[in-house]
Amino acid sequence: MSPAEPDFTPPPEPVPFRPDPRVELPSTAEAIVVGGGMVGASAAYHLARAGLRPLVIEANVPAWGASGRNAGMALTGLGGHFPRVTALVRAAGGRSILDYTSRSLDLLEAWDAELPGGIEWDRSGSLDLALDEAEEAHVRSMAGLQAVEGLEVSVVGPNELRELAPGLAVEEVRVAKWTPSDAKLNPFRLCYRLLDAVRELGGTVITGVRVERLLARGGRVAGVGTSHGEVAAGSVVLATNAWTPALAPHLAANLAPIRETVCVTEMLDVRIGEPGFETNQCNEYWRQMRSGEVVIGGYAAADDGMGIGQYSIRAGPEVPPLLAGLLARLHPALRDARIVRCWAGLLDFASLEMPMAGPLPAEDGTPLPGAFVAAGLTGHGHPYAPILGLLVSELIAGGRARTLSLAPFDPGRYVGGAHAPSWLDPFRGHSPVIG
Ligand SMILES: Cc1cc2nc3c(=O)[nH]c(=O)nc-3n(C[C@H](O)[C@H](O)[C@H](O)COP(=O)(O)OP(=O)(O)OC[C@H]3O[C@@H](n4cnc5c(N)ncnc54)[C@H](O)[C@@H]3O)c2cc1C
Repeated sequence: MSPAEPDFTPPPEPVPFRPDPRVELPSTAEAIVVGGGMVGASAAYHLARAGLRPLVIEANVPAWGASGRNAGMALTGLGGHFPRVTALVRAAGGRSILDYTSRSLDLLEAWDAELPGGIEWDRSGSLDLALDEAEEAHVRSMAGLQAVEGLEVSVVGPNELRELAPGLAVEEVRVAKWTPSDAKLNPFRLCYRLLDAVRELGGTVITGVRVERLLARGGRVAGVGTSHGEVAAGSVVLATNAWTPALAPHLAANLAPIRETVCVTEMLDVRIGEPGFETNQCNEYWRQMRSGEVVIGGYAAADDGMGIGQYSIRAGPEVPPLLAGLLARLHPALRDARIVRCWAGLLDFASLEMPMAGPLPAEDGTPLPGAFVAAGLTGHGHPYAPILGLLVSELIAGGRARTLSLAPFDPGRYVGGAHAPSWLDPFRGHSPVIG
């Protein structure tokens, strides 16, 4: 029997939360940002720097969602999504998607220097390991495309790999794509440091409050209705990841939740090298933290229905043994490393592989004045969240995105019928065999 086709458009579900009865909600705000993940934190930070005093409303706690559950890799080249998003940027009159993703990494680097305590930023490069013939073809073609776009990238063999990643089982790897400008970071610190700065700049962060609906007045969005009452505001930004369709159901057809699992090992004395690692078109990815633990995620293809259409963040039993097996195969010194925790989080995959960021469209596709959205980051939060938060804040504060055009991210194209998801085949990958 063939497995059931995944449901790309499950009925929208609001984010689960536990209301905080002690919260005192203000009745007005200059701008509201819904969601305290990396997108909301970036948007709020830039709004605060522009002189607006944003109110961040988070249903849980900052970084409760994907931003606190991810593996902390920052990959400029966006894995297997690169060709598609490159074409979309071109079609919108832009130069290169790298203009956006590189700017994000530069922002992250600057925040590491500026924000008290930093974000554990290491610009230590990444290695995309090709474990079989198909992967080698993919890695070589991706390296070629990315080099043409201006990314410093090379295909490396065993000698370079031994240097870059001591102890890597190089006999298992055909070639690897080496991207020296990629990085890794602590994603919790990213959200918390930015939101600390928001407070310092006069903004407010409220937790344990869920936004239930947008309030409209005179043909524009004028605030939000929440679990704790209404707040009036001149503008509202939805930074609500996979839960965005609960507030904007007309986006549901093109924004699929996908569950992804991450595991972390015990603290290890052995080092596997400073770069981040990926394989299978970035569907599996891992890095060693400064403190010695190895964080590894992926194998969504082995999850129930490939994790597609899942709002549950239960970490199932299928994935952790696969992740542990991949680590043992590629880093023999980790054969006995114990996995001490596993968790799952939700990705929000946009049907065209391209995030949506800009004015929130109404159901007929026309912009809804006063409302904005930044979602659909399709598994790559760090290369997108910093720049998209900046551009949306510029749009709100000054009427247009100044640093770079938001045209490639036009949310309008995600209203109406569903685009067939272009990402399914790369996502299915070919799941590296565990030895
Ligand atoms: C397991 C996993 C591994 C990943 N690994 C990487 C990686 O290594 N590198 C990388 O670049 N990206 C990675 N990603 C992707 C990245 O984490 C996401 O793209 C990014 O975190 C999305 O940020 P966000 O702010 O949009 O969403 P979130 O962090 O999910 O934040 C959304 C917030 O909105 C809140 N919210 C939702 N609805 C409401 C509401 N109605 N009212 C109030 N609050 C609400 C939620 O509680 C949540 O805190 C990974 C994701 C997962 C799940």
